[in-house]
Amino acid sequence: MRTRSQVIIAGGGPVGVGLAVDLGLRGISCALVERRVGMHNIPKGQNLAQRTLERFYFWGCVDELRAQRMLPPEVPASGVTAYKSLMSEYWHAFAGRETVNEFYFQKNDRMPQYLLENVLRRKMASLPLVEAHFGWAARSVEQDETGVLVALDHEAGDGARAVLEGDYVVGCDGGHSIVREEAGIRRAGADFDQVMMLAVFRSRELSRGLKRFPMQSTYRVLHPDLNGYWQFFGRIDPEEGWFFHSPVPHDTTRDNFDFAALLHKVAGFKFACEFDHVGFWDLRVALAERYRAGRVFIAGDAAHSHPPYGGFGLNNGLEDVANLGWKLAARLNGWGGEDLLNSYDEERRPVFKEIGDEFIAARIKWEGEIINRYDPEREAQAFRQAWAELKTGSSPIVANYEPNYEGSPVVFGPPNGVSRARGDYMFSARAGHHLAPRTLSSGRNVFEELGDGFALLAFGVPDSAVAPVAASARARHIPLKVIRDSYAGGREDYAARLVLVRPDQYVAWAGDAAPADADEVMRTVAGLAS
Ligand SMILES: Cc1cc2nc3c(=O)[nH]c(=O)nc-3n(C[C@H](O)[C@H](O)[C@H](O)COP(=O)(O)OP(=O)(O)OC[C@H]3O[C@@H](n4cnc5c(N)ncnc54)[C@H](O)[C@@H]3O)c2cc1C
Repeated sequence: MRTRSQVIIAGGGPVGVGLAVDLGLRGISCALVERRVGMHNIPKGQNLAQRTLERFYFWGCVDELRAQRMLPPEVPASGVTAYKSLMSEYWHAFAGRETVNEFYFQKNDRMPQYLLENVLRRKMASLPLVEAHFGWAARSVEQDETGVLVALDHEAGDGARAVLEGDYVVGCDGGHSIVREEAGIRRAGADFDQVMMLAVFRSRELSRGLKRFPMQSTYRVLHPDLNGYWQFFGRIDPEEGWFFHSPVPHDTTRDNFDFAALLHKVAGFKFACEFDHVGFWDLRVALAERYRAGRVFIAGDAAHSHPPYGGFGLNNGLEDVANLGWKLAARLNGWGGEDLLNSYDEERRPVFKEIGDEFIAARIKWEGEIINRYDPEREAQAFRQAWAELKTGSSPIVANYEPNYEGSPVVFGPPNGVSRARGDYMFSARAGHHLAPRTLSSGRNVFEELGDGFALLAFGVPDSAVAPVAASARARHIPLKVIRDSYAGGREDYAARLVLVRPDQYVAWAGDAAPADADEVMRTVAGLAS
């Protein structure tokens, strides 16, 4: 066991392993500690957003990931919503994240989380700078101005203990994070005081019984008795693999409840099924009050936990990685400042606050109110209208989800900009927003040219417009790649001739001419301004 690494990562779920891969590829040594030796076989996060696939592209394993998909490519990642049961006359198919595919370099996808984790673990094993310790649990964390100490227990029950030293520690240790507790970071949020069950099962009869619908990935039922909480079937494979989650009474255990009867009620028909797993969790949205305490950071479910409503968990955890990985590397490599590390919290926390409050908690309330407004037996016409409102109301939830960092102190967003989850999809390059893909004259995509540092897109501008930015980057050892091309062929859609792109493919600054003070721009985006 190496005693000192630059970064210690506690927790080897998808977020911890993703961070280890990101840092390992950036030349940062890390030690990853994971309590479990084997993998769990619960499909969990299946709905992979475009940004998650972009991560895998930059990590060099996107084709390997896509090859894991279990559903045929023509099956959309989205699904249907029905009233009371899947046999109801009230149902609609809803549009998923595929509607915004053109704004990303990679399309969204769908597969069980453990298949994604397998790809990540294989990638991590290929990186010499990453040392993984499976079967060890982080017990305590201490820090001072020189570094951190993480004490470990061997989970094999042999009483073995170890201590790791590092410059930073990142807690990716899930909702019950020890690292978060040790750092004294509290959480706040909405507790719905509702127990949920999760079942993984196999049933060909259920697959056959749903032939009335176009082939979909998910089947969601909203019941007026359940306050907007979901009853949810998700396909694992095209023939027989399923998962299901639903509210259940508080005192439910594996032994005192008829899970098959609940599944039949929600499906609206009886079918034979074999259970592989039944588990429980509490329905709550919880957000850490800060993502950093000195040399301690938290990411993924350790920073934000919530029900699996909308595919925000895994995807947002990997977006935390995209945001934090390059900043830690920049600081450790000497060209990034403290402001850059602070900006991880300043950019990511407000985004998740809005996701938790509006895309999850408010949606539960809104959907609960709509389906309780009228009784379809007695007020059919009014109910039909309310049901139509639910259909049109949930689509903008997808379309308006455009996380951005307009309020970040390390990007040149609009005056009074705020970082948030809601935004508009556009091809124009706006500071604080994700860069949209465009094709270069070479036929390659801009994303294929972006490296792992900053990139300056320079379209139809003289060398004198590029030189001050490049000179400042050189002087400050900030990695910068200049990508030149004409301001035509679709690149004019960026509506800016010069676009400074961060290592996480977010725009830091955009304009038509060299900035008045190029060094001020580079100092700010590297977190060196104060
Ligand atoms: C039914 C279901 C469906 C879901 N669907 C989606 C979806 O479609 N899209 C989506 O984006 N998300 C989805 N999610 C959420 C997603 O699964 C989680 O957000 C994701 O697993 C979070 O990853 P993580 O690495 O932060 O945490 P975890 O996956 O919880 O991993 C944390 C790891 O830390 C380890 N650990 C804990 N304590 C210690 C310690 N002290 N020392 C060492 N190791 C420790 C644990 O063993 C674990 O492996 C779903 C979840 C469920 C339950």
